[in-house]
Amino acid sequence: MNANFLQTPIDYLKGVGPNRASLLKKELGIHTFQDLLNLFPNRYLDRTQYYKIGQLQQTNAEVQIVGKITHIKTVEQKRGKRLVATFIDETGSIELVWFRGQKWIRENLKLNVPYVIFGKTNYFNGSFSMPHPEMELLEAHEKSIRSAMQPVYPSTEKLANSGITNRVINGLMQQLFLESKNNFAETLSKPLLEQLKLASKKEALFNIHFPKSQVHLARAQYRLKFEELFYIQLQLIRKNLIHKSKIKGFTFDKIGHNFNTFFNEHLPFELTNAQKRVIKEIRNDLGSNAQMNRLLQGDVGSGKTIVALMSMLIALDNGFQACLMAPTEILSVQHYNGLLELCKNLNTSIELLTGSTKTSKRREIHEKLENGELDILIGTHALLEEKVKFKNLGLAIVDEQHRFGVEQRSKLWHKGSPSGEVGGAIPPHILVMTATPIPRTLAMSVYGDLDISVIDELPPGRKDIKTVHRFDANRLKVFRFIKDEILTGRQVYIVYPLIQESETMDYKDLMDGYESIVREFPLPEFQVSIVHGQMKPADKEYEMNRFIKGETQIMVATTVIEVGVNVPNASVMIIESAERFGLSQLHQLRGRVGRGAEQSYCILMTGHKLSADAKTRLETMVRTSDGFEIAEVDLKLRGPGDLMGTQQSGVLNLRIADIVKDSEILKIARSYAMQTLKADPNLTAEENIPIKNTYAQLVKYRNIWNYIS
Ligand code: ADP
Ligand code: MG
Repeated sequence: MNANFLQTPIDYLKGVGPNRASLLKKELGIHTFQDLLNLFPNRYLDRTQYYKIGQLQQTNAEVQIVGKITHIKTVEQKRGKRLVATFIDETGSIELVWFRGQKWIRENLKLNVPYVIFGKTNYFNGSFSMPHPEMELLEAHEKSIRSAMQPVYPSTEKLANSGITNRVINGLMQQLFLESKNNFAETLSKPLLEQLKLASKKEALFNIHFPKSQVHLARAQYRLKFEELFYIQLQLIRKNLIHKSKIKGFTFDKIGHNFNTFFNEHLPFELTNAQKRVIKEIRNDLGSNAQMNRLLQGDVGSGKTIVALMSMLIALDNGFQACLMAPTEILSVQHYNGLLELCKNLNTSIELLTGSTKTSKRREIHEKLENGELDILIGTHALLEEKVKFKNLGLAIVDEQHRFGVEQRSKLWHKGSPSGEVGGAIPPHILVMTATPIPRTLAMSVYGDLDISVIDELPPGRKDIKTVHRFDANRLKVFRFIKDEILTGRQVYIVYPLIQESETMDYKDLMDGYESIVREFPLPEFQVSIVHGQMKPADKEYEMNRFIKGETQIMVATTVIEVGVNVPNASVMIIESAERFGLSQLHQLRGRVGRGAEQSYCILMTGHKLSADAKTRLETMVRTSDGFEIAEVDLKLRGPGDLMGTQQSGVLNLRIADIVKDSEILKIARSYAMQTLKADPNLTAEENIPIKNTYAQLVKYRNIWNYIS
């Protein structure tokens, strides 16, 4: 079947008039025959199974029964009339009930002829009934194409109300297959089909819409899922390869004075093996002549900062500048102070630039950046402002990536040359660091255009954080526990949720909480800090610093402290209304403690009413501190659409595959896509012609999403 046929406007399909066409376009995005063909069912009603009335269970969902009607009557009720038919098979009888369309049904139903009925059953007082069954004479049923697994297509209220029912869609699909004679071109190569024993395209399309059995359906689904994932991976891998061959980067071939001095004389601790491995991966990237575009994943506390620093030192050794961008002011300040300390014996110049940097200081920084006096610039997204121009930016690092959009990441690209030009100039190397562990399968799809490094090992000597779940009723006990910890010299975080929609309520909770804490932990023995988003940056910083210096023992805060804050002496994290936080947020918050040598604790406070999901989240937090395991659970609970940083990518709008459930198929698809491109980068081999054509079509009709790079 040629591609032109499939691109025929849907208006031209028999049975689709202008009205239906416009509804199909608006409601389901179906513009062409191809779009209809690719409308895959959400689920199937299994009509391969027949039930006997005597075996019906209350737990049955939809059932199909063969039998006949022996008797019909109209029952008058206070609320109106209903039509009731007695339907029997050799094992028993049930009642069929209609509230609507009674006249027509009464006139058309035949007594004592075999029917196939299908529908949901209700159970009441020892007997079953079926309201508004789907019915078909057994004789007709046996001939119909719909006789096996019945597809249920995606629909909308508008469609249903306009009479475009599932049955209508099903009819249109039959019409489409009739007109095309099921003559659809193969879209994968012969070797692939053979090696993986995949169903052909024709077979798969037919069986996804009109499956004869579960087995046929499963084969069709596998094939179509594979195909979908294969083409996405093909595109990502191609992009990555093109990137590597086309986008030149600075070659940092020297490991010089800064790096060596730091490594040999000032390293404050021995690097973990994971840190060493990752630094090596980064060194390799920086030493090649392609631009690095790397994602560094490492759980909270896994030690990403030192990796960032050592990477920046390589840039300096090669005569380049580097920058580190963090999502919040507090975090930028902390990075700045931390790096100053680490570099105090090196001859490097480091500055901090944030929204609250004074104008005069700002001017000085701009100048030193442009004339090259400044080696390392740390700051918030203030770094992205037009006025910030580097003499020669060689490496840009972004911390806690999920707070920044992809667009912001790409802005950094153009900071390299003084002119800020796109094209021509060589872009800086980019390292993106994130503490949100993304399951590898997902990372492969979402960040397919980035290379990925993982720090999968925590520095030695970390004690596991003891995590418990407590109900609000036990608050007094929790207060006693806090008091004991403070008396042994520890510090405590108490975090309140702050959700935009309920901001006013949340602030009230926060302030109420703060007041009761201050009452419980009075001056002068105790000092309590508070930090939240409505405070001025300077006030926040002041309070934060008091806590960092140990002048206050308790930090009451909203999630502003979520990211990156490092106070090793803090050993207790209390999370109020923990049921309202997402898993990854809980995990991030917990990561604020357990940074020192002492045993640390995380207490999840909740009310008594908990949803099933909330219970799972809390149980998961109590059971494990493995960020990747937590991310997997999170993904299962929320689906990939919600995952941080994935919203922009669009790639998760999959038609049939499910990135979580089909991760095995994804792996296979990726490895075959890789193999195919390795053997034949331009897809010019005879056997790859179907792939080349399909790929070109997908790109042409924008069915593959473009990534920003
Ligand atoms: P994150 O990955 O969350 O950014 P940091 O870089 O802030 O983690 O490191 C967390 C803490 O662990 C810091 O106090 C840091 O000094 C310390 N640290 C990092 N690497 C090691 C190591 N190899 N051995 C001991 N402590 C380390
Ligand atoms: Mg960090």
